[in-house]
Amino acid sequence: MQVGTGKSVLNGIAIGKIKIYKKKDTTISTTPVTDTGAELLRFEDAQQKAIAQQTALYEKALEEAGEDIAEVFNIHAMMLEDDDFVDAIKEIITKQKMCAEYAVKTAGTNQAAVFAAMDDPYLQARSADVMDIAQAMLDILQGTDVDSMQGTEPSILVAEDLAPSETVRLDKSLLLGFITREGSTNSHTAILARSMNIPALIQCKEIDDSWDGKMAVIDGYNACVYVDPTADLLKSLQKRQQEDKKKLALLQELKGKTNTTLDGTTINVYANIGGIGDVGAVQQNDAGGVGLFRSEFVYLNSKDYPTEEYQFEAYKQVVETLAPKKVIIRTCDIGADKTVDYMKLDHEENPALGYRAIRICLTRKDFFKTQLRALLRASAYGNLGIMFPMITSLRELHDAKNILDECKVELAAEGKKMGDIEVGTMIETPAAVLVADDLAEECDFFSIGTNDLTQYTCALDRQNAKLEPFANPHHPAVLREIKMTIDAGHRHGIWVGICGELGADTSLTETFLRMGVDELSVNPKSILPVRKKIRSIDLSKPAAAVVDEEAGEAEPQAEDPKAEAAPKAKSKAKAEPKA
Ligand code: PEP
Ligand code: MG
Repeated sequence: MQVGTGKSVLNGIAIGKIKIYKKKDTTISTTPVTDTGAELLRFEDAQQKAIAQQTALYEKALEEAGEDIAEVFNIHAMMLEDDDFVDAIKEIITKQKMCAEYAVKTAGTNQAAVFAAMDDPYLQARSADVMDIAQAMLDILQGTDVDSMQGTEPSILVAEDLAPSETVRLDKSLLLGFITREGSTNSHTAILARSMNIPALIQCKEIDDSWDGKMAVIDGYNACVYVDPTADLLKSLQKRQQEDKKKLALLQELKGKTNTTLDGTTINVYANIGGIGDVGAVQQNDAGGVGLFRSEFVYLNSKDYPTEEYQFEAYKQVVETLAPKKVIIRTCDIGADKTVDYMKLDHEENPALGYRAIRICLTRKDFFKTQLRALLRASAYGNLGIMFPMITSLRELHDAKNILDECKVELAAEGKKMGDIEVGTMIETPAAVLVADDLAEECDFFSIGTNDLTQYTCALDRQNAKLEPFANPHHPAVLREIKMTIDAGHRHGIWVGICGELGADTSLTETFLRMGVDELSVNPKSILPVRKKIRSIDLSKPAAAVVDEEAGEAEPQAEDPKAEAAPKAKSKAKAEPKA
């Protein structure tokens, strides 16, 4: 037996065989090829594999979700054989002498643009399908498809590091857990692991290629992995895993119950998601809505700029499936640790302090408008809100809202349907906290991003594993900023939520409630534990001290909420009744 140690990002046990994952080069060459015959064969092979994948997806969806949902995969399989599409790819290979990857990507982008420009909404929607099938073939050609990355049986993935763009593409049904040599507990990869409810071990220096195919157990409680565990150890960890399942089953009893404290205060408990794949978890865990849809995962999941049509379909599916529940979609927060090759962002010395999120959107207006148009169109299909990330000034909020208004005018002129949307500001920089009164005048809600707020307040790069000993997730400065933000929001009659990871920290739930928070948006698996915690709290009793677990000592409440009794938000802050 070998033991590896590291940092755990989720308390849980994963048991299964190890699969070593090696990074693939995903840059597409633009240099002409000499052997076009070989490229044609590579394309045909990828085409056949993609057809087989879509057929398998059709059969799976037919069994699990019915004919209507399954039909899309049937259409994809047929489109993969469409003569115009196939001829276009072959021509690029033979006439322009380009590699199969380049040909598939170029032909896919061209055909998607043709569909997107059509008047008929049904044909417009096919643009997203073309992007999907081109993507499926590209994945196969580049070895980044599920079969190549994860194999065909559920396993524990072991890698040097996993970028959010890789993690987001993993097939959850084949992923028991993952272990990486690098990584930090607040990175988006770790956040994804938590939202997928998958035990993961990071900073495990012992990982070794010889582990491939061996039986292993990730023990998230003790932040270690056992490779080839002894029979006795395996048995005791299996028992622990069963106990976890029983505890989870007990929490199911809270479904359908309100998020109400013993003295009668109700708040919203929403879910954080990254795409349509997470909607099932939102429903299973009975979230009141979605408080943070990290829309950049739609970009990370794509090998080229996702078109308006593609995004519209993605947002519409989520909003429509969850209607009438509210879905708050955060506009693209790309940059820092979330990068995609096709955006060709410059390498930066300080990416967290650099060109990211709203800064990209405000300077690449067409890029931003593509997303805003897709969001506005999707708003016609349910209860959609949007919020802007990384805001530091009122001017940025104004600029973003002006571009949004411009999109509304354009879409209205085009006769496109739109719903009413709430527009919010993420409060995740100290500057935003300090100008929160001004921002609150100009938006419908605040959502506090405690991950970035902690990073910027404490000057601790959340990607830098070396800084973890200096991190205090309950830093009084951050707690005070949260209180200041809630008060500022309420002074101006808007509701205030928390969507950073701290929202799921049940040792702080009472503190947040006493501060007057209106909504906590957490990873889906934390919804029921947070609900349980809320239901055990009595705000009419004196406040318990907040325990600073890092320092091992009790911190006073960031503020005495009663002394500063801020008016609760007006109409919009009301918690919505449960279905
Ligand atoms: C945050 O910063 O707290 C947040 C919710 O956004 P992200 O973690 O995606 O940066
Ligand atoms: Mg953030």
